[in-house]
Amino acid sequence: GFISVRDIPGVGSSIADKLEAAGYLSAWSIVVARAEELAEKTGLPVLTVQKIIESARKMLGITFKTAREVKQERLNIGKITTGSKSLDELLGGGVETKTITEFFGEYGSGKTQICHQLSVNVQLTPEKGGLNGRAVYIDTEGTFRWERIEAMARALGLDPDKVMDNIYYMRAYNSDHQIAIVDELFTFVPKNDVKLVVLDSVTSHFRAEYPGREHLAERQQKLNSHLHQLMRLAEAYNVAVVVTNQVMARPDVFYGDPTTAVGGHVLAHTPGVRVQLRKSKGNKRIARVVDAPHLPEGEVVFVITEEGIRD
Ligand code: ADP
Ligand code: MG
Repeated sequence: GFISVRDIPGVGSSIADKLEAAGYLSAWSIVVARAEELAEKTGLPVLTVQKIIESARKMLGITFKTAREVKQERLNIGKITTGSKSLDELLGGGVETKTITEFFGEYGSGKTQICHQLSVNVQLTPEKGGLNGRAVYIDTEGTFRWERIEAMARALGLDPDKVMDNIYYMRAYNSDHQIAIVDELFTFVPKNDVKLVVLDSVTSHFRAEYPGREHLAERQQKLNSHLHQLMRLAEAYNVAVVVTNQVMARPDVFYGDPTTAVGGHVLAHTPGVRVQLRKSKGNKRIARVVDAPHLPEGEVVFVITEEGIRD
């Protein structure tokens, strides 16, 4: 159940007001917060904030768990089908809650189509591969198409209007806007039965605003902090976070994989699942999971059809 910041021992109403104004509503959002960030956002002294975090941890019993409790927590993780059985298998059953899944690959490799499909599929019942939940779709490139949602919903025998009612869309116009939207999600997600947050793409504004090698370190630092914020969102509210990242193909790399050479995936320092997508013949696409010892190795093929993502 929901435990308010007001329930944390030692938190009075004036501090609670400040926490809530900064978007921290539940005790869990405090437990997973970083002290410096919490202090910055609330205007409270770091020392005070550290005490609040400690108190929240004590109250919620942030202690060792037994293996059986670990098992129980794993069972709480939800999975969303991609529409392709082989892609689901590659992901260990589908896109998971409590984690970030990054789809990276060149232009046209299917990143946006997968985001559309997941926004529809999350609404399915668990028996059909969904989580009976709603989706938030943050679009940085203006490539969201309601027509695709309609077509994908129809193909699954769902009412297209209902499906579209359950997808909250927002265009992010720059990286600060994007960060502010995610802050807002700490309030919005638990109130609206959201089980999937899509960020298509997570990198484009950061790339445009911090161009070139001279800004690389600053860009990566901002991006890492943004990704950690997304990770906390995923964990705190048991939602799936799906981000995309366009990676340039490099024609000057002749062997190995040309798309991994530049930029690479962005999740290197964040826990999560990274899926590389490549174009193949016609509507075929190839997916591969990188750096995930717990998932099956190898590549799978899926297709993008008028109905959506399929085998
Ligand atoms: P990315 O986001 O990785 O750049 P997209 O997800 O936008 O790529 O994929 C674009 C591809 O999706 C197109 O090249 C096309 O093959 C396929 N596609 C898009 N819309 C449809 C549709 N209505 N029917 C079939 N395939 C489609
Ligand atoms: Mg795209």
